[in-house]
This record gives sequence, C-alpha cells and structure tokens, in this order.
Amino acid sequence: MAKVVCVLYDDPIDGYPQSYARDDLPEIKTYPGGQTLPTPKAVDFQAGTLLGSVSGELGLRSYLESLGHTLVVTSDKDGPDSVFEKELHDAEIVISQPFWPAYLTAERIARAPNLKLALTAGIGSDHVDLQAAIERGITVAEVTYCNSISVSEHVVMMILGLVRNYIPSYQWVVKGGWNIADCVTRSYDVEGMHVGTVAAGRIGLAVLRRLKPFDVHLHYFDRHRLSEEVEKELNLTWHATVEDMVKVCDVVTINCPLHPETENLFDEKMLSKMKRGAYLVNTARGKICDRDAIVRALESGQLAGYAGDVWFPQPAPRDHPWRTMPHHGMTPHISGTSLSAQTRYAAGTREILECWFEKRPIRDDYLIVDGGKLAGVGARSYSAGNATGGSEEAARFKIA
Ligand code: NDP
Repeated sequence: MAKVVCVLYDDPIDGYPQSYARDDLPEIKTYPGGQTLPTPKAVDFQAGTLLGSVSGELGLRSYLESLGHTLVVTSDKDGPDSVFEKELHDAEIVISQPFWPAYLTAERIARAPNLKLALTAGIGSDHVDLQAAIERGITVAEVTYCNSISVSEHVVMMILGLVRNYIPSYQWVVKGGWNIADCVTRSYDVEGMHVGTVAAGRIGLAVLRRLKPFDVHLHYFDRHRLSEEVEKELNLTWHATVEDMVKVCDVVTINCPLHPETENLFDEKMLSKMKRGAYLVNTARGKICDRDAIVRALESGQLAGYAGDVWFPQPAPRDHPWRTMPHHGMTPHISGTSLSAQTRYAAGTREILECWFEKRPIRDDYLIVDGGKLAGVGARSYSAGNATGGSEEAARFKIA
C-alpha cells in the first residue's frame, strides 16, 4: 500500500469556510483547442469548494483510504524539522501545488528512496529538481490546462490594473480621499499600446485572445511559431528573440515555464532593452526575473509598473523587496487557484492517481518526466536541469 504525502496551503485564518459567495460554477465542457477536462471515474468533493487548503485535502482522503493507502496532508513544508521532511522518507507519492510548493530538491529526493511519483496539482513542476527526478526514474506529472485560463484572466486584470493605476486609486478611496490628480498622473489607456507575450502556449495565447478586443498591437516570442491562421486572426507580430520583442512593447507578459533556459531571463540587461516606462506582468514564475534588478528598474523609472503573483521562494520571506517596491501590483500566488481552478485540478489529480494505481498510462498531456527522461508535454516545453536552487530560503517565512 502506498503512502501519499500531500502538501497544501493553510486554511483561511478564520477557519475552513462554512458557506461560499456563489452556489455554483459555470459548466465548461472542453478547453480551447479541444483537450478534455479531467476525466476521473468519480470525485468525492463538491465543485466550487475550497479544496487546495489543508482541510480540503483535494477531496482525496476517502478515495485513497478506501484503497488502503495512507494520506498525510500538511502545510508544514520548509526546514529540516518540517512535517514534510519527516514524512518524506517512506513516501511513494508526493502531491504539491505550485502556490505553496513542496520543493523536491535533489537532497530531499535522495532521502526518499520509495518516491515514484511527484504530482503537481496545478501547472508548473519547477519545484521538483527535474534532473534528479530523471536520474532516479521518478514520474513527474501535472494537470495541464487546469488553470491556464484562470491565469490568463489574472494577467489581463493586472495589465489593466497597472496601466490604469487601479490599486493606488482604490487606496485613495479607502483612505477617505478624492485625490483625482494623484490617481491620474500615472494613469493611461491600454488602447493602441504594443503588448507582447514571452511564450504563446496555453496561457500566452489565451492572454492574446483576451486582449484583442482592446485594440492593442499584439506581439509574441515563442520557440515554436503559432499557425499562420492564428497569427492572421489576432494580427500577431512574431519576434525571433525576446530582446527584439521587448524593445517595441509597452507591456510585456511572461508566460513560459521556469527551467534552466528561462531562469533569470529578465535580468538587468534584458530590462535595459525594454522601452522606458514599460509594464511587466509575470504570472509564470518568480525566478524568471532577477529580483533585485526588478526593484532597481521600478525605482529608476525604467519600468512603470510590475505585477504578478509568482515569487521565489514561496512563501516569500516577509522582507522580500517585492512586497515594498514602488509601483507594484503583486498578490500571493493565487491566479491559478481560484475555486473554479481547484475543482479542475482536484479532479485531474484524482485522474492521475486512478491511472497510477490501476496501472493505466497517464495522459501524455500530463507527463513532464517519465521513464528517466522528459516526456509528454514536458519534452516540448521544458529543458532538463534543476531550477530549485535557493528554495531552502522559503523556511525564513516561518521563522520571521
Ligand atoms: P504551456 O506548456 O501551454 O505553455 C508554455 C509555453 O512556454 C510553450 O508555448 C513553450 O513553448 C514556451 N516556452 C518554453 N520554453 C521557452 C523558452 N525558453 N522561451 C520561450 N518560450 C518558452 O503552459 P501554460 O501556458 O499552461 O503555462 C505556462 C507557465 O505558466 C507554467 O509552466 C507555469 O510556470 C505558469 N503557471 C502559473 C500559474 C499561476 O497560478 N500563476 C498557473 C499555471 C501556470 P513550446 O512548447 O513552443 O516550446
């Protein structure tokens, strides 16, 4: 029988919800492009409830226990005395969410000889040392597409929020003011701007589609070009390099995975190539941007604004400079864990577990590493290597 260790974020500070703001979720039949939503044989949770926190347990307990497996759920994931460290030694499966990642470094993998499956309840498996997983023959899988549209909505919100100066204007209302001039001296229209995405995968393309009606000029960089038909439909300009694209954009949004090729992509040099006063929105991964270079670019005015929900490490230490830098619109890592998204990724997690225990193949769409190599979507979108370096700093959140 398997031991499953599941790391989830804490319940709300005022307790697990007894009721919700809405009674139902809209019915979504397929993802854009036709990929089917998760197809588990059954689920033991109610759609639209909080599944991603400790008490929600991704709705997995009764399923796993009915098969005789052991489920350990914890939010205590960082530092040598954490519950995660203590439970890892005999775990066969680790489930983690990118929002509150259980960093599976090479050292931790070495201390988990029984570990066979690292399952990401969400998208983005950079919290796993993929190189170590490849070498140890561990399968890494994620629930591709489960929250791509959720994130694309967040990106559009953040672009509008920055360009129109929403957050400071909201704060004037809360402070009792009516300071119109203070609000508008940094407020612009998005209409007519040049907006570019680094990567036009599921999220990047969904952002482009959502921005089209704003009458902006759309740009993208990706290693694989979109079809001529899509380029024409959205009137897209493709750029052969990120540098070429950022030079001409007023707004840049980052939508590629974090892997060795993209780590630190937005460093001082890349930021200096952007137009003065450009906006940067990063909901992909914190480590794609150089932390201190972003702060300096905001302070100097090279960037007019930075927003996103991804940090490194997570949770971000309380003194992380992105919490206090000027002109930012940061949130905790939430864009892909709306209640709508949770319903999909909890079902996808269940689907992957059913396949695992019934010895059926996991969909190619979900595989990142399998059989000692990058596999499925992982073989297309990731490069081998490790992006977990420095993750032990996450323990500082607990200590501070
Ligand atoms: P997709 O796999 O659909 O898209 C990823 C795209 O990135 C692909 O088009 C891929 O290109 C491209 N890419 C890979 N490497 C590079 C590179 N070196 N330079 C430029 N482009 C590159 O994934 P999604 O769009 O669904 O998600 C993208 C990322 O967003 C995830 O990996 C995750 O890190 C993040 N994310 C964040 C969430 C949040 O809550 N904030 C939730 C979900 C995802 P190609 O395949 O053409 O090689």
